[in-house]
Amino acid sequence: MIRVLEKKVADKIAAGEVIERPVSIVKELAENAVDAGASVITIEIKNGGKSYIRVTDNGCGIPAAETETAFLRHATSKISTAKDLDAIRSLGFRGEALASIAAVTHTELITKTADEKAGVRLLIHGGEILAKEATGCPDGTTMVVTDLFYNTPARRKFLKSDGAESGQIIDFVSQIALAYPGIRFRLINNGRHLFSTAGKGDLHGAILSVYQLAEYRDLVAVDYTENGTCVKGYISRPSLTRTTRRNQIFFVNGRVVASKVIEKGVNEGYRERLFEGRHPVAFLFIETDPARLDVNIHPNKREVRFDDEKAVTEIVSKGVRQALGTMAAVTEVKNIFTAAPKETEIRAEQTERKEEQVDIKQILSTKRRPERKPEPEVKPQPAVPSVREENAPYTADLSVKVPTVKASISIEAPGQKPFDFADLEITGVIFDTYITAVDRENFYLIDQHAAHERVFYEKLVGEYLADEKLRQPILTPIMVEVPLDVKENEYDWLDSLGDMGFAIEPFGMNSYVIREIPTFMSLSEAEDFVNVFVENISSGTQLSNTVVINKLITRSCKSAVKAHDKLSMPELRALMDQLAACRNPFSCPHGRPTFIRLSQYQIEKMFKRV
Ligand code: ADP
Ligand code: MG
Repeated sequence: MIRVLEKKVADKIAAGEVIERPVSIVKELAENAVDAGASVITIEIKNGGKSYIRVTDNGCGIPAAETETAFLRHATSKISTAKDLDAIRSLGFRGEALASIAAVTHTELITKTADEKAGVRLLIHGGEILAKEATGCPDGTTMVVTDLFYNTPARRKFLKSDGAESGQIIDFVSQIALAYPGIRFRLINNGRHLFSTAGKGDLHGAILSVYQLAEYRDLVAVDYTENGTCVKGYISRPSLTRTTRRNQIFFVNGRVVASKVIEKGVNEGYRERLFEGRHPVAFLFIETDPARLDVNIHPNKREVRFDDEKAVTEIVSKGVRQALGTMAAVTEVKNIFTAAPKETEIRAEQTERKEEQVDIKQILSTKRRPERKPEPEVKPQPAVPSVREENAPYTADLSVKVPTVKASISIEAPGQKPFDFADLEITGVIFDTYITAVDRENFYLIDQHAAHERVFYEKLVGEYLADEKLRQPILTPIMVEVPLDVKENEYDWLDSLGDMGFAIEPFGMNSYVIREIPTFMSLSEAEDFVNVFVENISSGTQLSNTVVINKLITRSCKSAVKAHDKLSMPELRALMDQLAACRNPFSCPHGRPTFIRLSQYQIEKMFKRV
């Protein structure tokens, strides 16, 4: 039942709903659709939502007799007395959104309840009802909102570019789709279908649908509870990182928040596994006692304050660490025998390659400019609503709220068993390349070459970053010859090699002599490394450019490490020990897996024993 609230109730509710930008409209309409119990919600926008927003749901619909009432200020079906304010279950309750939207746009409502035979179409321009007529339509509600701020040009001027406005809408719809994996969300921008979720309730599925990145298939499930606080969600393996935190979304008691405390927990959980300046991907839902939380610290920021910040950081970091220590963090065979990669996957792979180069670039730039400021976040900073702050002007709250019903989000938790290098028993080598190993429940293939590359790469970068270089003198110096144009550059590249732990100096016309090499390299590795490094330099090479150095390092790393070297058992063990000490033992610097896991169960299945 929709009715106009008593004045004192209305006053109790913060006044003055403000529609600031297109995303505020999308948010209000999408939340109404959620409140209406819809299982399918389609959102379509044009020109960043400035010229066109459509939200269609299959929810309960609005009875024909109540359509006009719905557009009155303080008209809501969701609460009726002041007491109800303390026990709000719905997303909306102020009864202001439709009135505010209709006041500054051309609005069309088409709606039908299951009980009624025909639907109704209502047309409102600037708050004035222009038409109401019966119409045939499916159960549910469609709102079409066009020409935002057509009657308030001053406010229209404050809108950003189409791209900036649609970016905020895409972010919002992505978040609400993750918050409600049980609802099928579809987003269309300028006629182009951006994404749709399955609405089956599984969070991982929703993440894949929203982001459409093949690399997100391997996210690892987090599910950890301590002292009544629980953290659930998905995070990336350490091999998948970004240069910003944009791919980290945190929900606290159903609200999207920015939180240094949670960020810190994530960082600590990954500690020793990530390089400086790299951020993992994380979608985390934290549920805690509301009494231990203050959500109203800043009206315009989506921030929360935890009573016990240390405890939250620790719970998050434990959850992350537990997840990363599980079998799920090791590439599984079932993930490999999938169909030929689709175009999107190839694109994802290319991004990964690019990412890998940035990886070193980040490290190098951190080294060169230690006081680099973190990149500014360009995400919207929605407001946190405060019901208790009476009469405070209510600015658009863009945060996403999720139902407190925990069952609505399902987290699959495969392979939550801890992975421990100490449990590995090396059983041999096949094709002189792949180490075979077992633990109690799994069989592993380890690519000796990829493993060696990972070890070599991490040691080299470690050496580069270290203040004290660990050099070893060599008995027979290595001679290197370079073309004359490369010689011109020598100040730069001699420096770079020095930073990596080589002692190298000019020796005649265009020759150089290496007298000391990094301790972790063999003689032949050092020789190959320097040769490839120098070979790839030409007169135009900008060695002050970290991207260029990156490429040189990765390329040289790759050729220095040889495949098909026959290793003895002690050498294999040493390699595995070194791999165990790596930050990212499960992939090589180029993102290929070092480990493949086949569980006993999978093997038994292949032989049709189970
Ligand atoms: P609130 O959501 O705060 O109640 P709104 O102005 O957003 O206020 O909506 C007013 C009323 O219109 C709601 O209480 C609800 O009864 C009805 N309504 C709005 N959108 C929908 C929808 N998509 N499906 C069903 N009912 C709706
Ligand atoms: Mg509403």
